[in-house]
Amino acid sequence: MKVQFLKSTVREFPPADKPEVVFVGRSNVGKSSLINMVTGRNIARVSKEPGRTRTINYFLLEDSVYLVDVPGYGFARVPKEEQERWKSMMENYFRERKENIKMVFVLIDAVAGVQKLDEQMLEWLQFIGVPFTVVLTKTDKAKQKELSRTLKQVKGYVGETAIVMSSAKEGKGKKEILSRIFS
Ligand code: GDP
Repeated sequence: MKVQFLKSTVREFPPADKPEVVFVGRSNVGKSSLINMVTGRNIARVSKEPGRTRTINYFLLEDSVYLVDVPGYGFARVPKEEQERWKSMMENYFRERKENIKMVFVLIDAVAGVQKLDEQMLEWLQFIGVPFTVVLTKTDKAKQKELSRTLKQVKGYVGETAIVMSSAKEGKGKKEILSRIFS
């Protein structure tokens, strides 16, 4: 796949001339690993220190779709003002790009389950009315019991059709995510 890094930005977005897909999720949910798996390239940094990327990163896939990697949320050691900055950056991003966003992939850790901030994200996306897909990450690590609990939690929000099971470790979910990116 052709993948180009375009820019790292807070509010200077590229022209809205191509559809874009966004990846969001808690810090440490496995977002970088998933993006790398999906693109087959090492474009997103697999974080040693969760929550460190504080800008919005634009990539161009196959000259046709923007892939947008936004900073993770819910990192405990981030100070309050930094959280506020994240929030206003995200609100501005979604306001500016809403029409251009074709899919938001909301990553949820299959082991940890749906957390308060995940709920808030899902509710907010529903409220502003952008299409989204929930991607359960690290399914290789989840016990059957954890997996069914997380699935049950998520189904309450989105139903069966909008859930993808993934594992960056096992290369699981790649085809399904790619087809959702390019359709
Ligand atoms: P990010 O902070 O959301 O970008 O998460 P990373 O991609 O940096 O991953 C956080 C941690 O989870 C790292 O230690 C990864 O090796 C691990 N991880 C990510 N994806 C998977 C997965 O599918 N399976 C397992 N077992 N571990 C994973």
